[in-house]
Amino acid sequence: MGHHSYDFEIDHEFFECFEASELHEGKVHVHLDFEKQERLLVLDFGFDGEVEVVCDRCAYEYLQPISGKQTVYVKFGEEAEEEGPDDVVFIPADASEVDVSQIIYDYINILLPLHRVHPDDAEGNPGCNSEMLHLLDELKPPAEIDPRWNALKGLLDNDN
Ligand SMILES: [Zn+2]
Repeated sequence: MGHHSYDFEIDHEFFECFEASELHEGKVHVHLDFEKQERLLVLDFGFDGEVEVVCDRCAYEYLQPISGKQTVYVKFGEEAEEEGPDDVVFIPADASEVDVSQIIYDYINILLPLHRVHPDDAEGNPGCNSEMLHLLDELKPPAEIDPRWNALKGLLDNDN
């Protein structure tokens, strides 16, 4: 039984540990309140920071602010047959430590918005790459999923 608090910073070194990671750069402060009960660990996470993602509108990277709290329950033993709630993680009964990095990685991804665009600047203008916006405007694709838009994206990537 016991209660502990931890604070740590997530950066690119953390994301490099995940081979297929879509995320590479960022700076996220993680606060963890850790409570050990008889057959259960209660992990209270707080996330606050920003990670680099690719903008859906202009295809350039930007820093997406993220913040949130999440409680995760770690139970010892075999995972039940039926699908349990998402916030319960099972570890072997004889485990002496919990790897929280996968949990942290998963929740950082969950905190990211589905639609990712540059935040507006102080004047309320889009924070996107202005050359790219201008170009997109000239070409006026009917929708972002139009194949011509993807071709354009490839073209500009090559020019970098
Ligand atoms: Zn953008």
